[in-house]
Amino acid sequence: MKALTNRSKMVSNKELTFMESLYFPAIIKGMMITISHLFTRKATISYPEVQREFAPVYRGKHVLKRDAKGAENCTACGLCAVACPAEAITMTAAERKKGEEALYREEKYAAVYEINMLRCIFCGLCEEACPKEAIFLTDEIVKTSYERKDFIYGKDKLVESLDKRIDITKRQNKY
Ligand code: SF4
Ligand code: SF4
Repeated sequence: MKALTNRSKMVSNKELTFMESLYFPAIIKGMMITISHLFTRKATISYPEVQREFAPVYRGKHVLKRDAKGAENCTACGLCAVACPAEAITMTAAERKKGEEALYREEKYAAVYEINMLRCIFCGLCEEACPKEAIFLTDEIVKTSYERKDFIYGKDKLVESLDKRIDITKRQNKY
């Protein structure tokens, strides 16, 4: 019968020789292969103690940026949600009230802004669609969890904190 691939091998049922039936040569050969791996570079690392350096263009958890004065940039225009191929973004818009100028840069803002990290494919299209430079993907990893609800990231996890600003300019320049 014609072989389906050129990787097929003919297997013979010949009797084992005395040496072959002792299995020692095969065991020693196997041990030599194992020992040789002790001297080769390991493919694994001891995560999380040791962490690999990410590529400069790595796209991880999003950040909702604030302006220089600390007001939220997002105006809840919805363009990021429309651009998102995974339908991972939802938001509820609200009108800025008098006295909230320091909190929100424009008259409209996102009262609720959520990203479902289980849906997100970290494509970066939300970042590209945003006309207000409000959303960026950072080099932070989305933390694992056993609970699905932990992957719905709201403003508490997304908005940049005032005392720990995230510099996205370096990452942007590496494209
Ligand atoms: S990175 Fe892509 S998939 Fe994730 S929220 Fe943004 S547009 Fe949607
Ligand atoms: S992040 Fe940008 S695109 Fe998305 S709603 Fe806010 S301003 Fe609009």
